[in-house]
Amino acid sequence: MIGIYGGTFNPIHYGHLRTAIEVNELFDLNELRLLPCSLPAHRENPSVSAKMRLEMLEIAIKDYPQLGLDEREIKRSGVSYMVDTLAELRHEVIDTPIILFMGTDAFNGLSSWHRWQDLFDYAHIVVMTRPQFIPRALPDFYNDKLVTVRESLKSCVSGKIFFQKVRELDISATDIRHAFIEHKNPSFLLPEPIIEYIRAHNLYSA
Ligand code: ATP
Repeated sequence: MIGIYGGTFNPIHYGHLRTAIEVNELFDLNELRLLPCSLPAHRENPSVSAKMRLEMLEIAIKDYPQLGLDEREIKRSGVSYMVDTLAELRHEVIDTPIILFMGTDAFNGLSSWHRWQDLFDYAHIVVMTRPQFIPRALPDFYNDKLVTVRESLKSCVSGKIFFQKVRELDISATDIRHAFIEHKNPSFLLPEPIIEYIRAHNLYSA
């Protein structure tokens, strides 16, 4: 199974990294790709360029061969739609289950994503717990999609949803950006080399 962990990663932090490591093990993935978006479709444009967000990702996963990168949204120009990304990936890996991982906050906003129902044509979705967010009630659309046994995701290549408890770290990129703006110490929220990168490039300054 291939895992896709999409995000803005502005910047990448331990909330992303810890959950990525955990789901990689829990779902016995062949690979887990962190997939930074270029221009997100459903939020304002990130304050830091795609190139720099990508560089921070590269630094963060350098010593973790179980984590990879998928740069297709950054290479493709224009707004990033996950449905296009998964359709492309599905062409490349016909018979392999694909899992799109997202935190509960992202799941709660899923119905505003472009052609969100079509995501299930290409992948499963796994929703990871995240502090301060409770999953919204599932509409009927999910009746035939919800599975409660992780192994079920191996029996078909797409179309299911599963809720996975992960270690809950109350860390967000928003809080980290504010920490830099307010000259507070962000240590232990994200890897030290990323903090050094942010300082060297004077990112997230007011
Ligand atoms: P921001 O504060 O800028 O919105 P963020 O911290 O939510 O950023 P994103 O890059 O927007 O990070 O998130 C990418 C994905 O990672 C989303 O699916 C999000 O739910 C998930 N995620 C981010 N932080 C955590 C966390 N602490 N625990 C679980 N999932 C997380």
